[in-house]
Amino acid sequence: MKNSNKENSKPISMAESKMVKEMEKQFEIRLKNELKEQEKRTTSKLFKISQDRENIVRDDFQKTLDVANSVLQAKERELEEQKARDAAKIEDLEETLRTTVEKNADLNTLNEALQKQLEEKQNELVAFGIEAEEKLKKAKADHDATMKTKDKLIQESKDSSRRELVQVLETEFECVICNEMFVQATILSSCAHAFCSHCITEWTNARAPPLTCPVCRTPYNNGNVKPFPMGRSLLDKIEDKLPVDTLARRNQVKRDRRL
Ligand SMILES: [Zn+2]
Ligand SMILES: [Zn+2]
Repeated sequence: MKNSNKENSKPISMAESKMVKEMEKQFEIRLKNELKEQEKRTTSKLFKISQDRENIVRDDFQKTLDVANSVLQAKERELEEQKARDAAKIEDLEETLRTTVEKNADLNTLNEALQKQLEEKQNELVAFGIEAEEKLKKAKADHDATMKTKDKLIQESKDSSRRELVQVLETEFECVICNEMFVQATILSSCAHAFCSHCITEWTNARAPPLTCPVCRTPYNNGNVKPFPMGRSLLDKIEDKLPVDTLARRNQVKRDRRL
């Protein structure tokens, strides 16, 4: 200000000086105001800048927060989905397990049924075997009994035939003198009647001539008394087939006659 005054080197009056001073004062005031205004504007600007920055920071933070939130939500969603998938898997596994258990139960039931059938078949087979064995035993016993009966009948038939034969022989080869079967059969050639050698000899010795046959009274002499070979041979052959009592009696007769 002083410099500016020195440049205007023209002398000034009191009024002029007063005016200048007044002007200077006015200028000073104006400048002060201007400065104040400037300061105000600057402060406001600074405030605004600060505000803007704060907003930017807040926005940034909000954005970061949003991003973080969205990431978190995404993670949460992912987790939820994972949980849902896991739950589905668990359900599947449980279903599989249930099905498996049911299948096992079915298999067990089937197995039990098969086992039972097998046991029944085995029992049937055993029963069949026992029955077959019993039938076989019975058939064998029946057969044996039949065979025994047959043998017995054959034996009885044989015995009966033999008895009949013996009866015929006893009748046809009976000596009329002793009423036994001929012992050392002897025949009279004059009439063909036969006797025991012992009996006809005693009969002949006990009588004086004329001698006659004890059966038919035909005369005979010592020359007519002959052995009867066919009769002797036949009796020798049937002797061991005679009934026990008949044979015993015959042997006794032979002993009595010292033969
Ligand atoms: Zn006799
Ligand atoms: Zn005679």
